Amino acid sequence: MPIAIYPGTFDPVHYGHIDIATRAARIFERLIVAVYDRPLKNLLFSPQERVALMSEAMTDLPNVRVMGYSGLTVNFARQQAAQVIVRGLRVTYDFELEYQMALTNKKLAPDLETVCLVTSLEYAFLSSSIVKEVALAGGCIQAMAPPHVIVAIQEKLKKGARDSEAAQTRLTSRDWPT
Ligand code: ADP
Repeated sequence: MPIAIYPGTFDPVHYGHIDIATRAARIFERLIVAVYDRPLKNLLFSPQERVALMSEAMTDLPNVRVMGYSGLTVNFARQQAAQVIVRGLRVTYDFELEYQMALTNKKLAPDLETVCLVTSLEYAFLSSSIVKEVALAGGCIQAMAPPHVIVAIQEKLKKGARDSEAAQTRLTSRDWPT
């Protein structure tokens, strides 16, 4: 049975990701959830934090390992002796991106196959951005991400609020010298 990697940004992990990893872990002998360190996106969590949050989310899956990586996904897959790249598919927009990525990876590494698992209906709306946006606006994200991720997001938001308050105070005292 082939070894598979499930690469992504996971900023942070949510129930849609966990669903894909759980289902892939049933198909493949071993699954490596590969947390990409520096995508071209604004991130809330550091690579180490994203690996830690994902590791905690995967504790019930004995054949799953979580690792951080940088550089090309196909190179990481080869280093891990994986033959398959797993990705999740939600909407038609995902399909275009995944299709392009799968063909690019095929060009770079013809020996690797991409397997896309279609999202479960209840998670079709879910993305890391939605989780962060709802949390930032003070909405409930209990149905979207596990409790340890919710705690981590709340801590980040509190820290962000403290930092901007401190910056505001610095600005105000500079603008209005006493
Ligand atoms: P990336 O930046 O690589 O797209 P993400 O963390 O956004 O990283 O997603 C990682 C993978 O998980 C992608 O294949 C994405 O399509 C898939 N995915 C994200 N959200 C869901 C969801 N709700 N259901 C199924 N797959 C999902």
